[in-house]
Formats: sequence, structure tokens, C-alpha cells
Amino acid sequence: MKTIDLVVPCYNEEEGLEYFVLETNKVIYSLPEYTFRYILVNDGSHDKTYLVMKKLANEFQNIKYISFSRNFGKEAAMYAGLQHTTADYVIVMDADLQHPPAIFPQLIEAVDKEGYDCCATKRADREGESAFRGLFSKLFFKLSNKLTDVKNPYGAMDYRIMTRQMVDAILELSEVQRFSKGIFTWVGFNTKWVSFKTIDRQHGKTTWKFSSLLKYAIDGITCFSVAPLRFTAVMGGIIFLISLIYIIITLIQTLFFGITTPGYVTTLCAVLFLGGITEMSIGILGEYIGRIYMEAKDRPIYITKHSNFEDENNEEKEF
Ligand code: UDP
Ligand code: MG
Repeated sequence: MKTIDLVVPCYNEEEGLEYFVLETNKVIYSLPEYTFRYILVNDGSHDKTYLVMKKLANEFQNIKYISFSRNFGKEAAMYAGLQHTTADYVIVMDADLQHPPAIFPQLIEAVDKEGYDCCATKRADREGESAFRGLFSKLFFKLSNKLTDVKNPYGAMDYRIMTRQMVDAILELSEVQRFSKGIFTWVGFNTKWVSFKTIDRQHGKTTWKFSSLLKYAIDGITCFSVAPLRFTAVMGGIIFLISLIYIIITLIQTLFFGITTPGYVTTLCAVLFLGGITEMSIGILGEYIGRIYMEAKDRPIYITKHSNFEDENNEEKEF
């Protein structure tokens, strides 16, 4: 019998976690030819998520959990979950039922019957989301597809099923600053895309703010491309050429016609413009240096506080 692990990152999900498990169980029971196991990852929640997890693990034998020492972010939680998987197939999904378990049969069929390595989901719509967030997401997908090698369709989500081989490949990429959507694509393999209608969050509320979305977008581009660095170099070249032409024109004017105007405005514009460009370039450079610095420290991606995996005492304590 084929096995499937469900990796579920959870942050402040006390209200909805039990409902999530009950709803997902309904789908699992309708697929008796597969053995399912939950790997719930408590990402340093500030509410009772951990206690709910423990209670659920006592109730259902197929529930495993890992609880972090603090909030490390969804990316770290996904990585921790994936590290603990052993199954033939792995499904990554959110705990808020926005990723409907009802499409499990469709996902499983793609990898088990149709020969794909991955079946990923994308949104059919962006209902329940502000127009602003939708616009920002669209812009980000366009920009990141242009600038990076990792191409994702618009509305691509983390919700997906992957084969053991693909999960192992993903685990090889042990960078601290993780951007899973890029990593999933970067490792390659055949991916089938299916779309589904999004559902509003049933319990709790989203933890994502605009600032975190912006950070996510910057991560998405800088983790997979040096295009912004190249952009500053190209811009420097263009400005150099323009200045060269301008210098020649001014020199000719001065030599043949003498100094006509004091050139106050021109000087001010040039200084301010170049100042702005220099600051921006240093900023872009700094972004990359910051990344090198964080990676060079080689800190663990997450730290486990509690877990009900058997090897808890040996392997877990390393982190
Ligand atoms: N999540 C997490 N750590 C965080 C933030 C979120 O593990 O720091 C989990 C959260 O519990 C949920 C999933 O990531 O299962 C998606 O989060 P959310 O629903 O807040 O994001 P959205 O669906 O609005 O993108
Ligand atoms: Mg959500």
C-alpha cells in the first residue's frame, strides 16, 4: 500500500486545527488504498495550537507533530515537515482549509497514475482577497517570471503533492532563506497544474501583512536571480554614456562660445539624480550582501522544542 505524508505548517491555528483534521479525515477515509500520516508543524504559535496538536495526536495514531521553539516562518515549518517525511508521496497544505482536501484524489492520480512527479495547484480566482493584494501578486508573478529562471503560473500555490524523489531533491537545498515556490520549480521534475476555487478562511485570520508580502516578493526575486545587480551595472553604463555626451557638448560650447549660464539647475539635478541612483545601487548590493551574511552564518533553519517522532531524543536535539 502506498503511503502519503501530509505536511501542515500551523501558526495560531487553535480554532481551526481540529476541524481541519476532521474534514481531511473524511477525504482520507474515502481513499482506503493509501495510508496517510499527518506531520503537523507548530511554528511557535502564541495560542494553544500546540495543546490542540497534542490532543489530536493522542486521539489519532497517524498524527505526528513538531513544535518549534519560536516562530520561524512558514518556509521553515514546511522544511521541517518535509525533513520528517518518509512516505512515497508528500502533500504540502495549509491548516486553514483554504487548500481543500477534497481534491486529494485528483492530486494523487496525477503522481500515482499519470506519471507526474508533482501535481501543484493554482488559484482559479482571487476571491476573498483585496483588489490591492491581487494586483500586487499579479505584478510579482510577472516580474519574477521575467527576472528569474523559475517560472510559475499566475496564482501558483504551495499546495501540492510530490514524489519521494522530488522531496529528497528539495531537501538537498538547505539554504536558510527559503523561498519554496522557487525551490519547487528550481528542482525541476514534471509538474501538472490544476486550478481550484479558493475558499475563505474558516477560522482564525491570515497572518500575512503587506510588509510580509513585500518581503516575500523581494525574497522571491533575489533568492533566484542576480538581475537587480545587473540592472544597476547597466544603469551605471547608460548614465556614463549620457554624461560623456553631455561633457563633450559642454566642452565644445565653452571652448567656442564661452561660459554662458552659471548652470545652477543642471548641477543640482545631476547631483540629486546621481545621489539617488547611487543610494539605490548600494541598497541592491546591500540586499545581496545581507543574504550572503545570513547564509554564511549557517544557522539551523528551525529549532524544535517538542515532537512526538520516535527519534526525538537523538536527531531532534541537534537543532
Ligand atoms: N503559517 C506558519 N507560519 C507563519 C505564518 C503562517 O506556519 O509564520 C501557516 C499558517 O498556519 C497556515 C499557512 O501557513 O497554515 C498559511 O498562512 P495564512 O493562511 O496566514 O496565509 P494566506 O493563506 O493568507 O496566504
Ligand atoms: Mg490561508
